[in-house]
Amino acid sequence: MEYVTAGLEPADVLRWFERISAVPRGSYNEAGIADFLVAFARERGLECHRDATDNVLIQAPATPGMENRPPLLLQGHTDMVCEKNRDVEHDFLRDPLSLYVQGGFLRARGTTLGADDGIAVAMMLALLDGGIPRRPACECLFTTAEEVGLDGAHAFDYSRISARRLINMDSEELGVVTAGCAGGLRSDLTLQYRPEPFAGECLHVQLKGLMGGHSGENINSGRANANKLMGRLLAALEPEAELHLARLEGGSKDNAIPRECEAWLAVPDAAAAAELLTGEAARIAQELGADDRRFELICEDCEPQACMMSAEDTRRAVALLSCAANGVLEMSRDVPGLVEYSRSLGVVRSGEGEMTFVFSTRSAMEARLDASVRELDLLAGLCGCTARHHSRYPGWSYAAASPLRDAYLAAYRRVTGSDARVNVIHAGLECGVIGSHLPGIDMISVGPTMHNIHSPDEALDLGSVAVFWRVLGDLLPRL
Ligand SMILES: [Zn+2]
Repeated sequence: MEYVTAGLEPADVLRWFERISAVPRGSYNEAGIADFLVAFARERGLECHRDATDNVLIQAPATPGMENRPPLLLQGHTDMVCEKNRDVEHDFLRDPLSLYVQGGFLRARGTTLGADDGIAVAMMLALLDGGIPRRPACECLFTTAEEVGLDGAHAFDYSRISARRLINMDSEELGVVTAGCAGGLRSDLTLQYRPEPFAGECLHVQLKGLMGGHSGENINSGRANANKLMGRLLAALEPEAELHLARLEGGSKDNAIPRECEAWLAVPDAAAAAELLTGEAARIAQELGADDRRFELICEDCEPQACMMSAEDTRRAVALLSCAANGVLEMSRDVPGLVEYSRSLGVVRSGEGEMTFVFSTRSAMEARLDASVRELDLLAGLCGCTARHHSRYPGWSYAAASPLRDAYLAAYRRVTGSDARVNVIHAGLECGVIGSHLPGIDMISVGPTMHNIHSPDEALDLGSVAVFWRVLGDLLPRL
């Protein structure tokens, strides 16, 4: 095999990364990479366990002289987000990624690179292959389906783990040590209605140009939520006109702040409704931040739809859109600048006789999530909706004392001469799930720098990989 990273350091880590990049490994397609890992372990006589969800655990004994040290758990996820540019031919079920190096970054031609979290896989393989000559016993856990709900981490049998300290390698900034994360859940509120024959004039309303972003990490960015803005526009229109919603579509991912939303309305006078909405949109535009300066509202007459909601059901839908608390709901009392509790109405969609509103709620505190569920249940009841809560995952509360974190910070300082920053994030990590199964485990989440993850512009900073590998090499002999 020819390596595009030939001549670059750390050679063994990069070579392993290139090898696994030839194995397709989108979420729910991890059997191939699990085969690869099992074969790797067999060839080296390492103890290995693969479970029904293709999680793989490989155990390596301590290096000579380190036998009396407590074991260490290292962990990363094998699956990657599969995104490609429209003009690229690539079959994520079959084709190897086409890697290249440019300006100190490793990238894939027209596709995601999967350094999130393939670099963790490569690091663990290099380590298991003898890349760090002095280290305690290591339990390397390769999990699956992280990107689609942490499924692998949820399913794993943690009675197999003896370590009580974990280095998770799914963070994307060298120089930042993540020491806590939010938990969360999804809530689908569904309004079932009896469709009525369409009557009146049809107005197609499109709201677009917002910046969006991750509904956890970017929730405090001040960026507007397209679904919520649509609620606000319709709430302004509803008292002025006999309004019937025919269709509503906004957002595409429940974990992203929606950038666009469109509605098909039945109104007595489409021109008058468009004028009112345009006026309200102009006032909204005054409030929005610089990120959302491309915000625009387009109102067009359109062909009548087949059916519509009653005025009463429309009022319920508009109430739900407008009245559900959204955005940053509470800040942390302990960590300055950290969002503690948030909610985002990520997706609204219409089906036959029903309209569904998908909320993503986040908090590191279980009691807060429980209360949020009850709140949404109450609101759903008032609006005549059913509520289904699912995909819940636990958070990871910041621990004031963490010997592993201290040791990592010290190693980072020795290697780089500068201090790493400790951070708590308002997004989910597998650490929350693992910590819920291994109470009291001492954890950090770290990794080299990557940019634009989950997009075809994903880029891995090779200089940061070298530094990160040196930090691990400094840290592990001391653990
Ligand atoms: Zn990841």
